[in-house]
Amino acid sequence: MNVFTSIAEAGAAARRIRSQGETLGLVPTMGALHEGHLALVRTALKSCGAVAVSIFVNPLQFGPGEDFGRYPRTLEEDCRQLADMGVTFVFAPPATEMYPEGSATSVEVGGLSDRLDGASRPGHFRGVATVVAKLFHIISPHQAFFGQKDAAQVAVLKKMVRDLNFDLELRVCPTVRAADGLALSSRNRFLTDSQRRQALVLHHALTAVQRLVQAGEYCSPALLAEGLRVMRGEPGARLDYFAIVDPETLEDVADVRRGALVAAAAFIANTRLIDNILLTAV
Ligand code: AMP
Repeated sequence: MNVFTSIAEAGAAARRIRSQGETLGLVPTMGALHEGHLALVRTALKSCGAVAVSIFVNPLQFGPGEDFGRYPRTLEEDCRQLADMGVTFVFAPPATEMYPEGSATSVEVGGLSDRLDGASRPGHFRGVATVVAKLFHIISPHQAFFGQKDAAQVAVLKKMVRDLNFDLELRVCPTVRAADGLALSSRNRFLTDSQRRQALVLHHALTAVQRLVQAGEYCSPALLAEGLRVMRGEPGARLDYFAIVDPETLEDVADVRRGALVAAAAFIANTRLIDNILLTAV
């Protein structure tokens, strides 16, 4: 498995693969890989003849005071796992390669970018959309794989692909969880054992809402009240948002019967975690 750090090498490898008639898949990541990432890679390997994984902790999507500096970086171990799985190449550029001095262009997905995580992290989705647009141009994948775990990111990127006519298929894979329900995240490694137990409140609150829907409650205010009640039961969690929205527009919905996303974000100490469940139409 090749590990490329330059745009020129990664682009050339991708063009070679495409010219051989292979389907090329791309899995963009920030590294510190866990089973959630590896599930995306496995899905990509099943449907594409060649798979590229990018590993790049994108400074543009972190705000001042966020955890860019301490974000886990485990490139060697990540590459070892990806090589064992049969990934074709890794693209792991330094920040200066992606954003050379003078870079001044960014991608802003109007409307969506200031909802959910975008509301609490101004500029976050501009950073995400910009780096993903660049990766799409550099690698030109036929298919790109993202996790439902980052539901707002999925909505933003789907809209970007449509609005900017990217010629690729965006594939969304289900959230991978630990046995107790905690959504896997690179940031979980910051949690102590007791903080990890506190973090489970996100899953408990979201599943409480899901159970209520299954019992026939479709009205968002009642569902939100239940989710917030569960969240308040864990003093170790500082709520950022708890919302019931349309999965595409990320706008609040009053009634979940036509399908909705229940999504939450909370700080456990200074680690910000997110999770969500798609409430299926009933
Ligand atoms: P990240 O490295 O956090 O930027 O994530 C890279 C990709 O992996 C994104 O598309 C995430 O949505 C996806 N991902 C992260 N955690 C999970 C998970 N627990 N289950 C499924 N996909 C995930």
